[in-house]
Amino acid sequence: MNDDNDDLDKLAERSAELRRQMGAEASANDRPPASWLADIVPAIMARQVEAEAHAAACTDRPCERCEKFVCRCGKPVDGATECPVCTAESALKAQMRTTLASIPEDFRWALGASAATLRQLSSRTGKPCVGLDEAAIARALAAPPAQNLHFRGRVGAGKTTLAIAMLWAWVSAAPHKRRGAIYVEASELARARGGHSLGDGEAPLVARCLRAPLILLDDLGHEANDRDNAISDVVYGRARAAKPTWITTGIVADADPNGFAAALADKYDGGFARRVVEMGKPVRLGVR
Ligand SMILES: [Zn+2]
Ligand SMILES: [Zn+2]
Repeated sequence: MNDDNDDLDKLAERSAELRRQMGAEASANDRPPASWLADIVPAIMARQVEAEAHAAACTDRPCERCEKFVCRCGKPVDGATECPVCTAESALKAQMRTTLASIPEDFRWALGASAATLRQLSSRTGKPCVGLDEAAIARALAAPPAQNLHFRGRVGAGKTTLAIAMLWAWVSAAPHKRRGAIYVEASELARARGGHSLGDGEAPLVARCLRAPLILLDDLGHEANDRDNAISDVVYGRARAAKPTWITTGIVADADPNGFAAALADKYDGGFARRVVEMGKPVRLGVR
């Protein structure tokens, strides 16, 4: 009798163990779907009826429940928190953000400015802000080229102002494709690798300059020296990748037609000068 009971206990234990192993998941789904659906369907329907009743009577705006909101521009919108115009504007702002952030405050007045505005007299010099005739400025703003340019002219000729206005016009013409185009001061780029240890990969500013669809390298030649070759590597790297680089420089060298290239070759090297001069188009300001 005892033995029989022991055997039965063992059998029950074994079968429980087997059930645990094989049927653990199956047992959870044993209930037919209809039974649990039946429990919640009335609740869902009741909520639906209530929501419809609310929507029919609701005149609130904003109302989260009805998804009726007021856009920040003041327009009423349904099913979204902002209107399509503001959504497009936000997307555009996001696309232009990197470019905008790179441009010094002093020059932001030139963004989106007309040719006539760029010709206004400078309070500092008493001369037009951009030393180029209005028609030429208008042409430059209408279709800034995706090719190398070198803006040349003496201090106060408005090279940087014109180049920044053109950079903005260039990005604005196709912001989704041209986002990331930046202004960078040559002296800042020259310092970018200083204090950046070699083990950390490329200095962030150099990497950005190599990646950008267009860079405006401002005041080339004014930097003390290109000791770490950041400027050279950016100019060479971008030329290799066939990416346009715009340069403003106070190196004028008018007398000799090859003087500008010679001055660049002297400061950097011959290959650098070729990339800037031969592969680029001059934009001359205030030079007769
Ligand atoms: Zn409502
Ligand atoms: Zn809006």
